Amino acid sequence: MFDVICLGELLVDFVSEDSGALLEHAVRFRRAPGGAPANVACGVVKLGGAAAFVGKVGDDPFGVFLRYTLDQVGVDTSHLLTTTVARTTLVFVAVHRDGRKDMCFYRHPGADMLLRPEELDEAWLADARALHFGSISLMAPEPRAATIKAAQIARRRGALVTFDPNYRAKLWKSEAEARRVIVEGLPLADVVKLADDEFELVTGTDDFAAGARDILAAGPRLVVVTRGAGGCTFFAAGCKPPDKIDHPVWGTGWGEVPGFGVEAIETTGAGDAFMASLIVDLLAERSRGRELVDLDEATLQRICTRANAAGALTCTRLGAIPGLPTREEVDKFLTQMRE
Ligand code: ADP
Repeated sequence: MFDVICLGELLVDFVSEDSGALLEHAVRFRRAPGGAPANVACGVVKLGGAAAFVGKVGDDPFGVFLRYTLDQVGVDTSHLLTTTVARTTLVFVAVHRDGRKDMCFYRHPGADMLLRPEELDEAWLADARALHFGSISLMAPEPRAATIKAAQIARRRGALVTFDPNYRAKLWKSEAEARRVIVEGLPLADVVKLADDEFELVTGTDDFAAGARDILAAGPRLVVVTRGAGGCTFFAAGCKPPDKIDHPVWGTGWGEVPGFGVEAIETTGAGDAFMASLIVDLLAERSRGRELVDLDEATLQRICTRANAAGALTCTRLGAIPGLPTREEVDKFLTQMRE
């Protein structure tokens, strides 16, 4: 039985090595496996969990490379499909001097957009303890139907369903369209993780308390907002955050969890490491008979602290997947930070 099945995009990032150059001027590119749900699957395995990935790659060398990468990490790829109809999705990335990312997707369509609901192995999906997905698989009609079907199967079985919208502006027709689709995805999930820079797009407000309240009203039991080096803020179902968040007030079902000071060299994958750690620890609580609704603030604080540590450690290394920490590395880091 798998702890987590991650569904969605698996693609190759070609990241410019010409520091600060615009994409049109970049000459050298480093190849890196990518796709947030696939990174989360790798993160779960590195933290000691059993994870599988469902998605589609092209019948081409990049698809072979991606499958090999997941296999090497120990992610189950028995349900990673291959198509001859489209190529493996590629994205070229350049990081501008101000830190902004310029992205150019080769996905017209890309293989990840061709996952169909009837291709899902329902019995296999129903056997997992958690299902994780993002918003990129919600964009095109068929993978969207597949994502919804997988989430419904997981929910029926009482598995934990987690959603990280991971908004990528370049992929959507408009912000309004992205918001509509992401908001429709919220009721499918028990846990929603968002980065602060996509919070307003999803909720329509930059007030975390008000936005989180709306997300919780749609059905999820836990909302976690990541804030880069600042750490994260969590809101549990039934929480009573103040109208304006200026300082944490305990006993109200929400909390701010400070991040760790590290020398960040590449932040790609930090959110995925965070998500993987969150899933692994929420499942560990379940194994002890504690459901999401039973988790007190101290427990959520501890879980979010570990997730912050996993995110911070990823920032100290190059590459999203190689940068994902193991359980031992997170433990060691937390011990060092306490000293
Ligand atoms: P995303 O990678 O999805 O954009 P964030 O940048 O918010 O998400 O990062 C996710 C988590 O990783 C943060 O909540 C934090 O715990 C950790 N993290 C990210 N950037 C840094 C950093 N520069 N220093 C320390 N921790 C970081």
